[in-house]
Amino acid sequence: MSLFSAVEMAPRDPILGLNEAFNADTRPTKVNLGVGVYYNEEGRIPLLRAVQEAEKARLAANSPRGYLPIEGIAAYDTAVQKMLFGDGSALIAEGRVVTTQALGGTGALKIGADFLKRLLPDAVVAISDPSWENHRALFQSAGFPVQNYRYYEAASHGVNRAGMLEDLRALPPRSIVVLHACCHNPTGVDLDIVDWKAILEVLREREHVPFLDIAYQGFGDGIEQDAEAVRLFAESGLEFFVSSSFSKSFSLYGERVGALSIVTSSKDEAARVLSQVKRVIRTNYSNPPTHGASIVSSVLNSPELRAMWETELGEMRERIRSMRLAMVEQLATLGAKRDFGFVARQRGMFSYSGLSADQVERLRNEFGIYAVSTGRICVAALNNHNIGSVTQAIAQVL
Ligand code: PMP
Repeated sequence: MSLFSAVEMAPRDPILGLNEAFNADTRPTKVNLGVGVYYNEEGRIPLLRAVQEAEKARLAANSPRGYLPIEGIAAYDTAVQKMLFGDGSALIAEGRVVTTQALGGTGALKIGADFLKRLLPDAVVAISDPSWENHRALFQSAGFPVQNYRYYEAASHGVNRAGMLEDLRALPPRSIVVLHACCHNPTGVDLDIVDWKAILEVLREREHVPFLDIAYQGFGDGIEQDAEAVRLFAESGLEFFVSSSFSKSFSLYGERVGALSIVTSSKDEAARVLSQVKRVIRTNYSNPPTHGASIVSSVLNSPELRAMWETELGEMRERIRSMRLAMVEQLATLGAKRDFGFVARQRGMFSYSGLSADQVERLRNEFGIYAVSTGRICVAALNNHNIGSVTQAIAQVL
């Protein structure tokens, strides 16, 4: 009998399945709003100028490709810390933050989850309802039971604040709480500073371990503004985890550039934590790849390239913002039977559009417009060429 005869077919990834259906669609007017990628006005994934410059320099230097240290490029790790905690961060100065390069934000979550499993083997992990679908799977694969806390409130297109706090209070003490630091995926609905302060107090009271996931820093209101929650936690004196990613902000999806940062209580703790995180990395993939992190590190550590990147990041952020505003305006002009003003209040690449699964299906069948059945659309896939047809189609299916 074959070793594999009893292997069952795993369920298809719903979003990748959507891409396959989109690719097979022959209608020239088709639009893919199901993806989680930023496209420029021409409908392409940009290769940022700052990245091109750094790549040219790297190529010209004929740099050898030896193994990196287990924790990655030191100058990269330091640059990540400054982006997250701020240039003048006391935590950094006190040596209390451990940062290791990771294979994207996903890799950072996985390393963090594996390390936490050793520290808190019996903990429960709580994620927002809804959340990025990989959060549940990642923490489950590290061996944790995963449950939801209330988050999105469909009626108000906002946050169920009371429900969220109540659920966080009801978790067993020392639970691990995964929070989207900005640009919530999939809803686009973020917490404000008042919410963050209230959440922080519950986490402190219940001794929960915060795990902040920040995959879209710079896509919301700006690099510094989007780090507001991270900075608040940094000042709180709590210990916490941060997974961060440059996939979106550098448009380097396939290079897998992310980081795991862990805030500890002392320099001595930090050294011991780093040694254990390195063991986790060592037994997973030994050490991280060189290219992406060396590009990001060159850009962040060169004043000229950094300024160039910040401009380009600002352009991406502004383009998304203008697409949100255009969508709201056009739907109002078309006399849509619903007010879409909430779309302009959401942040990041995504919008929970409020469209039902039936409406999403009609968009796809009748108009070749692909969205996730939950109603999630990627606003960063809209542009001035396709937005008119998208809003007209939405107005028709309402
Ligand atoms: N966290 C969230 C909330 C995300 O949306 C994503 C990317 N879709 C990630 C983490 C992982 O990012 P990466 O592609 O860098 O692994």
